[in-house]
Amino acid sequence: MKKGKKLYEGKAKIIYSTSDKNLIIQYFKDDATAFNNQKKSTIEGKGVINNRISEHILLSLSEIGIKNHLIKRLNMREQLVKLVDIIPIEFVVRNIATGSLTKRLGIEDGTVLEKPLIEYCLKDDKLGDPLISREHITTFNWLDSANLDFIDKNLKRLNDYLLGMFRAVGIKLVDFKVEYGFTHESGKKEIILADEISPDTCRLWDVITDKKLDKDRFRKNLGDLIPAYTEVAKRLGILHEQSNITAVNVTKLSSIKKKK
Ligand code: UDP
Repeated sequence: MKKGKKLYEGKAKIIYSTSDKNLIIQYFKDDATAFNNQKKSTIEGKGVINNRISEHILLSLSEIGIKNHLIKRLNMREQLVKLVDIIPIEFVVRNIATGSLTKRLGIEDGTVLEKPLIEYCLKDDKLGDPLISREHITTFNWLDSANLDFIDKNLKRLNDYLLGMFRAVGIKLVDFKVEYGFTHESGKKEIILADEISPDTCRLWDVITDKKLDKDRFRKNLGDLIPAYTEVAKRLGILHEQSNITAVNVTKLSSIKKKK
């Protein structure tokens, strides 16, 4: 598999072509943006952790039959993924009210929702990703109602699975955003999950302390973003490579000490 030219650079990722027309490489950058690009920064190591966390989650989803674009992680920052036509909608699922929902509707922050709430936003930075209804989606043919029904069902299943996965490691899944796309393979168009699932795209609170372990640390200037993301990765039982690196460093250090 040969890496080709840069096709697109987004806020947090770069997309490269490959020698296979149906596959692309997704590169995770360290850049962080918030409030529709008004707040920007580079946080060293963020891309590496998100690459690992998203890989872990998408592989687990494949195991339970939630189809997604991930083929495999290639290295610290890159994944080989299926090329899809991204549906221009951000699908948000909420279990606890916070963020834009509380501001928009005056709902008290932290209100536990009786059942998951699905929201749709048009993926358009110039318009500030406005909230849209099901009717908007079908009226403007962004998706037909059968495909929207399929995605709604998929989102509920995804939410149930992710809630359990995070709860098992002492984390509340407050809300998240995902994207879907149409595959090109074998002539048939199939909807699969794309993009990433990471602390950049989810709100994750510690079960006991409600400590934020997600991108709100950047949005709200709380600091310690890397330790928080690392904590998520450790609790999920990943970051083995990093522990190997640490082990190598420890070995090297002890041999240096012995030589002295
Ligand atoms: N989100 C995202 N990308 C966006 C907007 C939102 O990944 O462009 C995620 C965000 O991290 C949160 C969920 O979607 O987990 C809901 O975000 P909200 O609508 O509250 O937006 P915000 O408060 O970030 O404006």
